[in-house]
Amino acid sequence: MRAPVIAIDGPAASGKSSTAAAVARALGFVHIDSGSLYRALTWVSVTRRVDDPTEILAGAGALHVGLRLEGTLLQVEIDGVDDVDLAIRTTAVTANVSAIAAMPPLRDWVNARIREVIERLPGAVIDGRDIGTVVVPDAELKVFLTATPAARAERRLAQRGGRVDPAQLAAETATLAERDRQDAGRATAPLQQPADAVVLDTTTLGFADQVARIVAFAAERGLQPPSGADIL
Ligand code: C5P
Repeated sequence: MRAPVIAIDGPAASGKSSTAAAVARALGFVHIDSGSLYRALTWVSVTRRVDDPTEILAGAGALHVGLRLEGTLLQVEIDGVDDVDLAIRTTAVTANVSAIAAMPPLRDWVNARIREVIERLPGAVIDGRDIGTVVVPDAELKVFLTATPAARAERRLAQRGGRVDPAQLAAETATLAERDRQDAGRATAPLQQPADAVVLDTTTLGFADQVARIVAFAAERGLQPPSGADIL
């Protein structure tokens, strides 16, 4: 029997990862950021200059791309890369990740990593695009997190720091919209709102409120880590 799963899906920069991390901490679950695995495969593609899925997976195998537990987050690791989080969030990786994520063999690889790890967790909060529709369609709680494109672009720029001017905001809004267009338009496991998801529009909702609402939905469904559960 697998551990309870909360699936958090939604468009780019809707706050999924930070929300999922906080919900996981509140419940004693482990957070899995599925996008970070697609980003790691994209990093392999960009740095090795390969775009054939077989070659990308060979590179991922050679570099032992995988998940390592850090606190309540399953963090991606890549042999020889000290700051993986930085490496997988460059403009080059972000610009190419949707094309990489559209390749079925790479989706199968990511899904296998997620499914094998959730077997050994007390509970998981997984964020992505297809978690509630494809990866864990029987998840105990499904949340679809959304916000207007302008709100998402503003938050993304604010995270990077510095002053935000209208031209930058327009450019970031267009970049996010293009990534969403590709993610929602692909043939395999497109970005889609699960029919049975709770929808949270975070345009005007504060971060603490959105976390509290999800924790409350989880409590309504009786979600809590089994007592004495081991983490991995
Ligand atoms: O969540 P993040 O924006 O880091 O995800 C990066 C990319 O990974 C997305 O734009 C999408 O192409 C892909 N992705 C996906 N399915 C998931 C998670 C991410 O296709 N479950």
